[in-house]
Amino acid sequence: MSNRIPERINAKLFARTERGLNGQYAVQSFGRLNDIPQSAGEVVAFEVEFSFAPNGHIQVKGHVSGTLQLMCQRCMQPFDYSVKTEFLLAVIESEHLAESLPEQYEPYVVGDSEELQVQDLIEDELILALPIIPKHEHDCIAKFREKPPVEEPEERKNPFAVLETLKQK
Ligand SMILES: [Zn+2]
Repeated sequence: MSNRIPERINAKLFARTERGLNGQYAVQSFGRLNDIPQSAGEVVAFEVEFSFAPNGHIQVKGHVSGTLQLMCQRCMQPFDYSVKTEFLLAVIESEHLAESLPEQYEPYVVGDSEELQVQDLIEDELILALPIIPKHEHDCIAKFREKPPVEEPEERKNPFAVLETLKQK
């Protein structure tokens, strides 16, 4: 399905003709997201529109959405995380041009060729939209509190409990 999405495009040409692109990528096809293998079967949908901003730079307006399986860093169980992010980018040739952009724009540096890697851009936006420390919204470890703390580090054990076991010997 993703075959019809061009791998790279000329951003200026797209802006001049006010072209857009939309499609889907399999989560497993994103090279930098391979630390979330639970999402292997999922897809991420996107849409981008190119045009020229009033001050002359190329702008890309778009959104990315999908559901990924992230690992909860509190209970270490996978959970569904819905991503929905919108963005407004200014395609610029070098980093130093970023300073002159109106603040609503997120700079996107492409280099002299003005060639833009479509999936790379989508992956950037997706990564920005993911939580740094993924966690369930609810108090997911509540159900584990009743159980004995199996992997409790040594120094966190109650010293009186340790004494108790020594006495019994
Ligand atoms: Zn959790």
